[in-house]
Amino acid sequence: MSEAALRVEDFSFRYRDTKRYAVRHLSFEVPQGGFLCVVGPNGSGKSTLCNALVGLIPHHFTGKLHGTVSVFGSDVSKKTIADLSTDIGFVFQNPFNQLSYTANTVAEELAYGLCNRGVPRDEMVVRVEAIAHTLRLDGLLERNPLELSGGQVQRVALGSTLILNPKILVLDECTTQLDPLGSEEIFDIVRALNEDGMTVVMVDHDMERVARCADTVLALRDGNQVALGTPREVFGMAGLEEQGVDIPDFVRVTRALSASGLADGDIELTEGPTIERVREAMGR
Ligand code: ADP
Ligand code: MG
Repeated sequence: MSEAALRVEDFSFRYRDTKRYAVRHLSFEVPQGGFLCVVGPNGSGKSTLCNALVGLIPHHFTGKLHGTVSVFGSDVSKKTIADLSTDIGFVFQNPFNQLSYTANTVAEELAYGLCNRGVPRDEMVVRVEAIAHTLRLDGLLERNPLELSGGQVQRVALGSTLILNPKILVLDECTTQLDPLGSEEIFDIVRALNEDGMTVVMVDHDMERVARCADTVLALRDGNQVALGTPREVFGMAGLEEQGVDIPDFVRVTRALSASGLADGDIELTEGPTIERVREAMGR
């Protein structure tokens, strides 16, 4: 059996100078090539978990920590952030935190990590152009990153991470600044990368998208792990909404139909927009 990309063992963390643990007793694994979605209400510990997966906890945020987080079998607390960044890429919840604030152009911003790794200039130019094309930033390469819209900064933030070709990609609500079409585009890219073998951990609040993308869903509430399983298992769980965890509309519809005797209550997670699944469930 191959080594898990990420392994979290009874992990708890309390930020310095706070009273409450932000996450408690988290335990799960993400196999290589897996797609884990993390869901839960605001303040449930999703960003804290991301910080721990990429080593910002304990290397940047200090506090009280129990348990371990391992990347490809190595404890993140024993590796440097620089070492970790060769395996794992992180797209922050706030894309403005991702900017270097030293690059004068989008091209320089995208190339920033490559520069730090001493990648030759010719190769750098090719990779910047390729990633700009993927993320539809072609026309913006000479612009100042500080003059971009939020959605454009979000694309640049993703680009500056993807250009390093990480084995594991951690995305913390990475499309909040984008319109629905822009978000779908980003998710198509992430899904394609996952199909090509990249391990993905994604925090997202769009439950339809989660059900569509994830092979495993982790639901958090108040820092506790309240559900872990396939989208079908997790969204099919009774009482999840009472835990403050949102569920996809089509699950709600399927439940309502089964309660009124119109369907057998088995949740189908198929491709396609919600409305089609709803029509299907209603036999239209
Ligand atoms: P989510 O991403 O699910 O909204 P967070 O991980 O941001 O949740 O927050 C979980 C808890 O940790 C919250 O109570 C929050 O106030 C606290 N927290 C988050 N970041 C910090 C920080 N840098 N310092 C202190 N407390 C924090
Ligand atoms: Mg968050």
